[in-house]
Amino acid sequence: MYVEHAAGHREGAAGLTTHAPQAAQTPQSVKLPATLDEAVAALAAMPAAVPVAGGTDLMSSVNSGQLRPAALVGLGRISEIRGWQYQDGHALLGAGLTHARMGRPDFAALIPALAAAARAAGPPQIRNAGTLGGNIASAAPTGDALPVLAALEAVLIIAGPGGARREIPVSHLLAGMDMLRPGELIGFVRVPLLHAPQVFLKATGRTGPGRATASVALVLDPARRGVRCAVGAIAPMPLRPLEAEEWVASLIDWDGERGSLVPEAVTAFGEYVATACIPDQPPAADGTEQPLAPAVLHLRRTVAALARRALGRALS
Ligand SMILES: Cc1cc2nc3c(=O)[nH]c(=O)nc-3n(C[C@H](O)[C@H](O)[C@H](O)COP(=O)(O)OP(=O)(O)OC[C@H]3O[C@@H](n4cnc5c(N)ncnc54)[C@H](O)[C@@H]3O)c2cc1C
Repeated sequence: MYVEHAAGHREGAAGLTTHAPQAAQTPQSVKLPATLDEAVAALAAMPAAVPVAGGTDLMSSVNSGQLRPAALVGLGRISEIRGWQYQDGHALLGAGLTHARMGRPDFAALIPALAAAARAAGPPQIRNAGTLGGNIASAAPTGDALPVLAALEAVLIIAGPGGARREIPVSHLLAGMDMLRPGELIGFVRVPLLHAPQVFLKATGRTGPGRATASVALVLDPARRGVRCAVGAIAPMPLRPLEAEEWVASLIDWDGERGSLVPEAVTAFGEYVATACIPDQPPAADGTEQPLAPAVLHLRRTVAALARRALGRALS
């Protein structure tokens, strides 16, 4: 059942999300559906409406004048997307899970890297309101959940009109290969339960909570004898250094002592990841070497340090 609120008049709408831009509509209203399908139906009934979960990103855009939604569909009362359930060796995470909820110990025991990212996502008031679905739909380069979901090769379950559901790998959405269509919502995120160490580390430009200048998520997947790593914040979407992953996975003694990797290999992995994500400049036309700018070099060193530490912790 919907709860509807009248709200003040606003003009125009500019989408800064993974949704296609939508046109303005007046008068403005706010709907608060109780199920995912009701929310989708509300969006279909008001094509200019914008979904809002915790509102932490959306209200920043409204306050700065970048976004003027003609109507809102609030997702906060949809209980089916506020928790998680187990499904064939995976966890099906509701898009409405808050960072605060994901940061709790029971969730950390399940998906440690996502819990670590949730604990690092802004100050407490943001973590209490901000959601997993909002983090994904905003697709900000600094979204802390995003490199973790990329490393876990998570899949989004998208709810569409008429009860339709379709699946998109999170990396496809973040790369813009498969966008949310008008009226669609992220309902759930399916992630594998790997039962192995996983790490999320983040560098910020300040002490205390802050947006990432670089972040690294690293997960071990013993069943597939794989190491998966994603670097966040340094590009529009998380970057996967696939060759570095394969190289280090081939050095690990998966049947014996995983921690037996020599420190030199751990350091080399950090360098490999950093150079893959922040490559050298191609030489100039006359063949002379083009050095990286000092700030870029610093960022590369930061990524190398994060990747080295993440692997060291995962193997310890
Ligand atoms: C001061 C401050 C500090 C922050 N620090 C961090 C940080 O350190 N790390 C970090 O990762 N983020 C940070 N954020 C960003 C923000 O808190 C997160 O991205 C949060 O997860 C957004 O979730 P939300 O529920 O508030 O999204 P909302 O603001 O409600 O929505 C964001 C966008 O997603 C869309 N949307 C929401 N839910 C869905 C859904 N289920 N399906 C489809 N579309 C949807 C909305 O239409 C909107 O376009 C910060 C924000 C602020 C204001």
